[in-house]
Amino acid sequence: MRDDVLLIHEIYASIQGESSFAGLPCTFVRTTGCNLRCSWCDTTQAFHGGEKLARSEVLARALGFGTPLVELTGGEPLLQAGALPLLRELCDAGKTVLIETSGERDISQIDPRVHRIVDVKPPGSGESARNRYENFAHLTQRDELKFVLADRADYDWARELVARERLAERVRHVLFSPVHGALDARELVAWVLADGLPVRVNLQLHKYVWGATVAGV
Ligand code: SF4
Repeated sequence: MRDDVLLIHEIYASIQGESSFAGLPCTFVRTTGCNLRCSWCDTTQAFHGGEKLARSEVLARALGFGTPLVELTGGEPLLQAGALPLLRELCDAGKTVLIETSGERDISQIDPRVHRIVDVKPPGSGESARNRYENFAHLTQRDELKFVLADRADYDWARELVARERLAERVRHVLFSPVHGALDARELVAWVLADGLPVRVNLQLHKYVWGATVAGV
């Protein structure tokens, strides 16, 4: 697709549910389509459909909500050529800009003003073979790495990777997030405390406000 058009699932304002920005008012631009199929994906509604919009229209709608914070998410936003210029334009407009990406795409060309929230897929996702570890070399103190953990095996895998690659020193935060309904957050907290890990337990705040199955909030 050309870079002046994006395939968009939804644009809406809510509170940020995750990352160190959790709780802040935020406008979400959610693109359609993803090339991964994580076993626990909670945005499968964004795999198909959507509306083709001019990038200028996406920008106008995103700015129209007036929140200082804007996140580009998906699906996988970096599958679309228009994602990079849109991120730049949102930064030019004075917004604090986040992108949430699966970690499978190259993050090196993203505007350096953007906070990149990069997933690392543990084995329980079924997609760990797709992790682009070369992305680690591009991370900065603006960025966050997110591990969504389904069980103890995922936790052990993530803990070892964080230690081996010294990930907590490379980014603003390493986020450990339990799969909602699969891993008890209390268990995850107990493991993190027992191991003294330099990570931030990341709960999906929007699911506690609106419920686990409500989309577009
Ligand atoms: S990368 Fe994200 S949108 Fe794609 S399948 Fe995994 S959780 Fe779902």
